[in-house]
Amino acid sequence: MDLLEGGPTDRRAGRAAGRAGDLGRWILKYTDGVTENPLPACPECAGAYAYEMGSLLICPECGHEWPLDTAGPGDAPEERVIKDAVGNVLADGDTVTVVKGLKVKGSPTGIKAGTKVRNIRLVEGVDGHDIDCRIEGFGQMQLKSSVVRKV
Ligand SMILES: [Zn+2]
Repeated sequence: MDLLEGGPTDRRAGRAAGRAGDLGRWILKYTDGVTENPLPACPECAGAYAYEMGSLLICPECGHEWPLDTAGPGDAPEERVIKDAVGNVLADGDTVTVVKGLKVKGSPTGIKAGTKVRNIRLVEGVDGHDIDCRIEGFGQMQLKSSVVRKV
């Protein structure tokens, strides 16, 4: 029957498509590796073709081996600096004041300018809301660092 034969064929086609996809990714990765070596240049001869072997980097040009510095520049996650409205760097536990009135859903007054907020916590917020805090009368809130000022 056509229907019964159709099934396995379709599955085979699906698998073939999957393989093609893998190959595509592999080619992309390979090309990236060739055109842009993300590893640092050799400290001995400045050769750009160093490759990774375990925790060592090896330069094929002069044979120099050196430890892979996982904390090196470009590799380390960039430390995020969060600044207030006037450029002070904020830290967990800081006390800030709100510099402008903020509308709050469900509140007739909103948060007034000058409201003091104690013990802020810096977070990876949604939409630039990088401060997690508790505001009296409002509860747990997330604010943008651009609307507060360090006290
Ligand atoms: Zn070298």
